[in-house]
Amino acid sequence: MEEPKIKQKRGKLSLVATPIGNLADLSERQRDTLAAADLVAAEDTRHSGLLLAHLGLKKPLLSYYKHNEAGREEELLAKLAAGENIALISDAGTPGICDPGSSILLAAAQAGFEVDAIPGPCAAIQALVLSGLPTERFAFEGFLPRGKVKLEFLQKLAAEERTLVFYEAPHRLRETMQMLEEVFGGGRRMAVCRELTKKFQEVQRGTVAELAAVWQEREPRGEYVLVLEGCDEACHRPEVGEEQLKAELKRLLDGGMKHKAAAREIAARYSLPVSRVYALGLVLKRE
Ligand code: SAM
Repeated sequence: MEEPKIKQKRGKLSLVATPIGNLADLSERQRDTLAAADLVAAEDTRHSGLLLAHLGLKKPLLSYYKHNEAGREEELLAKLAAGENIALISDAGTPGICDPGSSILLAAAQAGFEVDAIPGPCAAIQALVLSGLPTERFAFEGFLPRGKVKLEFLQKLAAEERTLVFYEAPHRLRETMQMLEEVFGGGRRMAVCRELTKKFQEVQRGTVAELAAVWQEREPRGEYVLVLEGCDEACHRPEVGEEQLKAELKRLLDGGMKHKAAAREIAARYSLPVSRVYALGLVLKRE
């Protein structure tokens, strides 16, 4: 007689988005998925313990973050095989977006387990929508690389036509704003979005030059998303000649404007790097 096949109970992996600053953004589905989980894998177990406590839940927590995610894979797959339902959360927002989550989701799916992503806040999308810039096509660039390669990385995006979205840390904001002005020209529109969904949410809309000047004066604090207009027709337009630039610069300098301010104004007018126009001013002074 043929032996009856025992259908093994198998667990499910759910990537659960969580609020990026406002606990009222928690959804019923997020709550239900966390409540149904046998285990919660979390970036920072202490931080996530507080979120679970807010929901009145007490769950076994397993730390799962960038530097241990590869090592945890086997363990999590074994738990799924044992029939455990796992909810994976990051410190804030959507797991997998500049946070761990994608690799274990793929590994679990490929191993035949059921996987799902429970939607919720994502700082990039929140900022994009609030920026007022075109949303039809956009490119999310995450965090910019650090050090020397950062400038090169931005230069490669100079002709990108889609709206660009970057995450940035407060201690790098000033340097990044200066580089944006350098590479994309001061005239491009952008939005600096700060502390989204939180009590002190702020969205500043203006040109790169205007907002770079604001943040040279103000101490950057909190969390930031930068949204930058893509390269439009004007940005693709053939370059204005050096003689014309010098003539216009000279007019401003003769009118009493300071060298740097004049360079900024001309650069914004033609969407040029400030440094290039500033250098022309030095040439003018020598002539
Ligand atoms: N997974 C998250 C998401 O879905 O947005 C992103 C995590 S990433 C490690 C953290 C970065 O996201 C921060 O440095 C900041 O650039 C951005 N961010 C997160 N929360 C934010 C908020 N409330 N306001 C502005 N930016 C935020």
